[in-house]
Amino acid sequence: CGIIGYQGYREAVPVLLEGLERLEYRGYDSAGIAIIEGRELKVAKRAGKLVELKAHLNGYFGSARVGIGHTRWATHGRPTDTNAHPHLDCSGNFAVVHNGIIENYQELKQWLTAEGHHFLSETDTEVLVHLIEHYYRGDLLQAVQRMLPKLQGSYALAVISPCHPEEIVGVRQDSPLIVGLGEGETFLASDIPALLPYTRDTYILENGEVVYVTPEGVRILDSYGQPRGKQVFHVTWDL
Ligand code: GLU
Repeated sequence: CGIIGYQGYREAVPVLLEGLERLEYRGYDSAGIAIIEGRELKVAKRAGKLVELKAHLNGYFGSARVGIGHTRWATHGRPTDTNAHPHLDCSGNFAVVHNGIIENYQELKQWLTAEGHHFLSETDTEVLVHLIEHYYRGDLLQAVQRMLPKLQGSYALAVISPCHPEEIVGVRQDSPLIVGLGEGETFLASDIPALLPYTRDTYILENGEVVYVTPEGVRILDSYGQPRGKQVFHVTWDL
């Protein structure tokens, strides 16, 4: 299971696919990506190996410069196309990838369903994207921050939105998430090998930390929203 994210000047799709390939060793049963093209959120996901996703994409690269990707190791819900990540909210304004388990997802799902949210998958993950939709008031980072106190369990997650076409928000809690710092580009990944073709300067997120990626740079916040002074971890080893 793995997460990848990209924001920068390169075509996002090949970067995401290569990142997912480099995370394959972690094991997975499904794969998917979400990209922002203009003001449109596009998602491609498939049960099975990366070759299935690539066949589905059929050479499509698009022009997106921002995107997130996922390899899934199913814990809640069978390995199907629908249960594969990324997951979208009802409005199609948010896409989320997640590694880990949301322990209290049933309770959250009940509440969100009563609030009028319509669920498509059997996953625990899907509550995340509906929660973000619920808390969204025009600020993506704030919506994610408002969701976090509701969550029990383990998660590394990444969120994008066509309403904020150049941003990614990521969070780490008991599942690894690493930030790759490039020149005019930023990467998220579950593990360092996925970043090595592009950069050796990283932030290793700790539990509770939130990463906010924009073209202006990377901000790391603690779970109270306070800025964290982070040391750059420079990777010196090779694969
Ligand atoms: N619990 C989530 C699911 O089953 C994420 C699994 C993972 O870490 O890949 O969809």
